[in-house]
Amino acid sequence: MSAPTYDLGKLHGGLRLPGNKENSTAAAIQQVPVPAHLILPITQHVGDAAEPIVGIGERVLKGQLIAEPYGSLGAPVHASSSGKIVAIEPWPVSRRHGDTAPCIVIECDGEDRAVEVAEILPAFETLPADFLLSRILQGGIVGLGGAVFPTAQKLMQATTCKLEYLILNGVECEPYISCDDMLMREYAEKVVGGARILLHALEVGSCYIVVESDKPEAIRRLGEVLGDLNDDRFVLKQVPTIYPSGGEDQLVQLVTNLEVPTGGLPTDVGCVVQNVGTAAAINDWIIDNKPLLSRITTVTGDGVAQPMNVEARIGTTVADIVNFVGGYTDRAEQLIIGGPMTGKSVTTDRVPLVKATNCILVLSEAPAGGTERPCIRCGDCAAVCPVQLLPQQLFWYACADDEAKMRSYGLLDCIECGCCDLVCPSHIPLTADFRTARARMQEQADEKARAERARQRFEARNERLRQEQQIRDEELAKQKESARKAGPDAIAEILMRRQDPPDEDR
Ligand code: SF4
Ligand code: SF4
Repeated sequence: MSAPTYDLGKLHGGLRLPGNKENSTAAAIQQVPVPAHLILPITQHVGDAAEPIVGIGERVLKGQLIAEPYGSLGAPVHASSSGKIVAIEPWPVSRRHGDTAPCIVIECDGEDRAVEVAEILPAFETLPADFLLSRILQGGIVGLGGAVFPTAQKLMQATTCKLEYLILNGVECEPYISCDDMLMREYAEKVVGGARILLHALEVGSCYIVVESDKPEAIRRLGEVLGDLNDDRFVLKQVPTIYPSGGEDQLVQLVTNLEVPTGGLPTDVGCVVQNVGTAAAINDWIIDNKPLLSRITTVTGDGVAQPMNVEARIGTTVADIVNFVGGYTDRAEQLIIGGPMTGKSVTTDRVPLVKATNCILVLSEAPAGGTERPCIRCGDCAAVCPVQLLPQQLFWYACADDEAKMRSYGLLDCIECGCCDLVCPSHIPLTADFRTARARMQEQADEKARAERARQRFEARNERLRQEQQIRDEELAKQKESARKAGPDAIAEILMRRQDPPDEDR
């Protein structure tokens, strides 16, 4: 490994924001105990909801599969402790779109009994890449940086491209959030272990582990682990603390100076980006047989008694987690799941921690806003946009609901970072409007894809029925022909024996 290098950065726009991370990083990560109930949404990833395979009243063990992946972007859900299934019903959740989701509710027995490990895998270096990828799918692992894209499918897509770099994203640039920083400080071995598995599965020869310069302890720990490993495929790279340098495309540009094309993916320029937490989860699953059952999350803000990072089981409610850190302060006013820039305000703490939950932020007051006024064409929003969009122009087309123009002005490239909002002197809620417009376009695309899948299923079924009928007709014709040669009694017997197709195929 080379010495850590410092990159002065080539990011367009962005903002230097106060970190507000000191309080939550003062103490070590604490473990939240098993709660009375776990609430497990079947939609914790992008793509189709998983399909429950357990019934109400059934007893489950920690690590047991309770919902199977469905569709091309599916991910499974596992029980994160032992107990009894008491409900499968809609429950309040923190999602970008929609306030409830179907959830499997487990009444925990407090014993935390785990399923027996079915098989101990041999050393990962001896396993073929496609085996590792399907194994990663079974572990329920999704991108833990917030995107929750199923990791196995992302890697499978990547293996179809010519790859040069694996980039591990340890750039946690949004204020208040420090779960990746604490993960790198306390579990640097797992992060590097996951990276080694990824390098093998992707057959890539170089890995950048990228960390912001405001995380010296994480950089020191990673440096130690990489020093011991002495593997020259790894480079530890520091980047300046600028929001939002942790966006995938922004990170690729910072590290490699390569620009991801509009509407494209990092794989278009030979890069695969994975969050450091995702790498650690891969290590846990492939090396220690632990599927994704818990995650580290930051609980912070002046509305909680003791800000800190905790590791909690997926499905633990925010109420249980806040209770664990000493409860709310008298000043608690606003609950945000995620950070102040990209998180979502919720009105209840009954929502569960899900795979995407990197932060629970409780503030004494809503972030400063102001009365919305007309755009004065100052151009500040364009100056800070890391994707080099023209937010004022996009806003105009979003108001007019002009989808074609929004597309041509790059709305789909917007990473919803919120920088434009923050600088707008007219207090126009640009990001909220872009988010709504993007969601509408995504829903239409999803609906189109669903209709296409239904059409393909219908046509495949018709083709199968046609082929089966053809086989039956040919068989009957053969029998008739041989019976014709044998005489009239044989024909009558064949007609009596003839079977109609089963009901379901009519
Ligand atoms: S929210 Fe979208 S338009 Fe606004 S600065 Fe970020 S990327 Fe640009
Ligand atoms: S920052 Fe606000 S006022 Fe200035 S151009 Fe952008 S939308 Fe208009």
